[in-house]
Amino acid sequence: MSTTTAVPTVADVVAELERRYPPSWAEEWDRVGLVLGEPDAQVRRVLCVVDVVPETVAEALAAGVDMIVAHHPLLLRGVSSVAPTTYKGRIIHQLIKADIALYVAHTNADVAAPGVSDALAGRLGLTDLRPLQPARPGTPAAGEGRGVGRIGRLPRPMSLAELTRHAATVLPVTAVGVRAAGAPDRIVRTLAVCGGSGDSFLADASAAGVDAYLTADLRHHPAGEHLATGGPALLDATHWATERPWLDDLAALLRGTSGVEALVSDLDTSPWTVHAAPPSTGRPAVAEPVADDKEPDREG
Ligand SMILES: [Zn+2]
Repeated sequence: MSTTTAVPTVADVVAELERRYPPSWAEEWDRVGLVLGEPDAQVRRVLCVVDVVPETVAEALAAGVDMIVAHHPLLLRGVSSVAPTTYKGRIIHQLIKADIALYVAHTNADVAAPGVSDALAGRLGLTDLRPLQPARPGTPAAGEGRGVGRIGRLPRPMSLAELTRHAATVLPVTAVGVRAAGAPDRIVRTLAVCGGSGDSFLADASAAGVDAYLTADLRHHPAGEHLATGGPALLDATHWATERPWLDDLAALLRGTSGVEALVSDLDTSPWTVHAAPPSTGRPAVAEPVADDKEPDREG
């Protein structure tokens, strides 16, 4: 810690974050920005997390941080109470009592370049990156390289089975690992990735003509229909594992510009904690496509 440089304030850190991730780049339904914290409070230590949940709040309290920067909004929908008897109210009370500010960069960090999916693509070794779904011209986020997801080239061609093992090795470790859909021996050279729930970009991955698409939270009907209609092979990791790589970039940004001590949470906040391999690993059955799926939803 320097004795000659002023300690940054919450407002200083927010200003740095918003230079890289302008709030105007967020989706309309999203809720980003400062959630808790006095703008003139000093910030010496920050914890970067994907989710603000009791476990990461406990981590923040134990580490004595002044601020949490999170990917997912704690409060996405309207609330009429933050009583400590409620799940989120308890978290809010804990943070305010401990003088911990909370800031959220969500879909504005997804579309940024570099953004959430660049970090994911980086883990997989992808090069020649371009957006999976470029930010629409005329929208605030429109600009070179910006948009949701990334498309890139693998360091070398891999079979789908090999790529699945590669992904499970280079992504943050979770209980569930990575599963894939498609012929295991299919050769993959180009890969689309999207951190978080990427269901709604299946058509973009097909249109891009990539060999495979890696994202999280894929569902039975959309995935089955996508494959049955000739779409790229699919890889499904946990939501947390696809977004956790971005925390390293976020921490580097905070260290470099604000000079704060930036810690990264490696606590797996995925709800899935147990995985059992089947007794024999035969080729998975191919399901008949079903066309009556409900509207895809996406909350990052
Ligand atoms: Zn997410």
